[in-house]
Parts: sequence; structure tokens; C-alpha cells
Amino acid sequence: MRIVDVRERTVPISRYADPDLPSGGLNTSIVALMSDTKRNGEPVVGYGFSSVGRFAQGGLIRERFAPRLLAAEDDALAGTDGQPVDPFKAWAAMMAGEKPGGHGERCIAVGTLDMAVWDLAAKLADKPLYRYLAETVGRPLDESPVPVYAGGGYYFPEDDIGCLEDEVRRFVDLGFRDVKMKIGALPVEQELKRIEAVISVLSDGNRLAVDAMNAYSADEALTAAAALAPYRLRWFEDICDPLDYRTHAAVAEAYGPPLSAGEALFSAADAANLLRYGGLRPGHDVLTFDPAHCYGLPEYIRIVELFESAGWSSRDFQPHGGHLFGLHVAAGLGLGGAECNPHNFQPFGGFGDEQRVVDGTVAPPDAPGIGFETRESLIDLFGSLTAD
Ligand code: MG
Repeated sequence: MRIVDVRERTVPISRYADPDLPSGGLNTSIVALMSDTKRNGEPVVGYGFSSVGRFAQGGLIRERFAPRLLAAEDDALAGTDGQPVDPFKAWAAMMAGEKPGGHGERCIAVGTLDMAVWDLAAKLADKPLYRYLAETVGRPLDESPVPVYAGGGYYFPEDDIGCLEDEVRRFVDLGFRDVKMKIGALPVEQELKRIEAVISVLSDGNRLAVDAMNAYSADEALTAAAALAPYRLRWFEDICDPLDYRTHAAVAEAYGPPLSAGEALFSAADAANLLRYGGLRPGHDVLTFDPAHCYGLPEYIRIVELFESAGWSSRDFQPHGGHLFGLHVAAGLGLGGAECNPHNFQPFGGFGDEQRVVDGTVAPPDAPGIGFETRESLIDLFGSLTAD
């Protein structure tokens, strides 16, 4: 098997269900890895994208990482177990010549292509990714549905609290139990009003996580933590600059309920520093590394194993992203759950068109690969990459 072509395009995405609301110019890269293997007369194609919340990586993909995949000779990426492509070999090919450190956002370019490699490898094995992943890395597969929570709760430019309550009601109607909203842009007293409005819909603070999107300084994070503590929230996420481990440790010391961190750390080296210096608590705090943002699954698995070796559990991980890939990763690695973006970041947010969330849980689709084909709007977009 060879990868004979890599197609790539930048597409806009929105934080809102209504893409006309201003969303900071967010975009993402979509990629298609075209193999020389045919099924039913059509080439087997792996699809990937740059997750959500950062930006497209077309330059790095086109100029640096896709050419290394395309340069792999016939069967150079094959597994020793007879599989036509070994995603770990593909990852090593992409990272050839890269130096440690200076991660920047090259990790997202690699993670985007890596997602497509896993989609391709699982399709060639004719298995859904979660099953292929568990078998490939030798983890026991828990077949029970994955706990998922609804991400959203961004600021609305008009009638913010009314729109926020409506959004959360829609999440509950869709079958979600737990919800995450954004905070950090307004004075704490105003944030508490937004939080109380959402809790009034959910009826329990333990069903609500808040995400400060790394906005708080050290002092602000401690002030916010003191104000949030009485609500016994599900977790308090991205409390300060992601590299400010001292503030993480100070807040963890002062704040009883769970914290979460990791979404904006993009390497095992950064994760190791969070582990060493962030003061986070195994079995209590939540780790939200985004597999597509931190160099893809090989590095993400290293991060999981790093924390496991320090007494944490894979159940302490809940990947950021809110899409099908994160759901497969959670199921395949036995993580504690996954984010879902039912309305935002379309058409990437959410799962398959036929999948239903029941009591806050959902099973990944059983289609081969990631199952982007089970989401019509998404496969229409990916399919346009390979149309000519
Ligand atoms: Mg976050």
C-alpha cells in the first residue's frame, strides 16, 4: 500500500450554531489521504481535520509533512502484523528530521494527517477506529457507551443569558446530562449570574463545567476559584495560561472541586511539566488534551501512559474537540468520557447522524474507520476534496 495523494483545504468554522455570529475568524484544515488500495472500484481514502478551536495548518501540511508521507516507498508504512499501514510508522515518517522542543503548531499539522492515517488504517482493516485502536495498542475494549458532555455556552452578543439558557435546554433535550460553558471574559459577579442561570436549567451544579479559556491571571484565577467553590461544579477548566504551572498548583491547593487542564498543551514534554508542577490530583481532576492538537495519537498515547505511570487512570482523560474522532479515542483507550459539540463547530461538531445520546452516553459508530461517512454534511465536505 502507498499513499499516492494528499489533498488539503482550509475551511471556516464557527463557535456558534449560527455561523453569522462573530467567531474570531476560526478555521481548520481538512485532509484526504488517497491510497492505491481499491475497494469496490474506489480508492480507500483516510480523512482528517485539525480539530476545533485553533487554526488551519495548510502551509505545514503541504510543504513539510504530507511530502514525507508521499515519499514512503511501497509497503514502507506496512505493519509487521500484515496490516497494510502501521500508523506509528506513518507518524515516524512524518516526524523524520524534526527536533525536540519548539512545538508551535506543527503538532496540529502532524495531528491532522495522523487522524487521516488512523482513519485509513482502520478502513483497510475493515474495523471501526475504536476497535482497531484498542487492538493495535493492546488495551482491553470496554464495549459500554462513552459518557459525553455537551460543549458550548459561549457569549452571545445579544440576550446572552436568555440564549445561554435556550442552548442548555436544547442540550438536555438531546439527551445530555452534563454541559460545559465558557467564563472568564466578564467580571466574576456577572459570570456567577450566567452560571446560576445555567444551573437553574440543569438543577445541579455538579452537571455544569466552566471553562475560563486560559483568560485569568494568577490572582484572578484564585479569586474566581473562591467564588466558584460553593457551586461544587463538575470542573473548572483552563483556569490560567496553560504554561503557568505554579498558578495551577496554587488553585489546586485552594479549590476543592475538580479542575481540568491540558487542552492547550500540545506535547508530552509540556504534559510532563503539568504533571510535575501543576499540583493536579489523580482521580479527581480532568485531563483534556486534544489528540489532534498534540501531534496525533502516538503522542497522545504517550501522554496517557505518562500520567498512568504516575498513578493516574485513563479514566481521568476526556479529550477536547467534541467530534467523532474524540469519541473513538475515548472508547478505544478506555478514557473517562469525551466532549461533544452538538451545535457548534459545524459540520465537525457532534457524532453520526443516526447516533443518539441516551442518559449522557453514546456508542461510537460501527462503520469502518472514524465513520465520517455516517455524518452526511461532513462526508459531503470531505468528499469534495477527492471529487476530481
Ligand atoms: Mg477548554
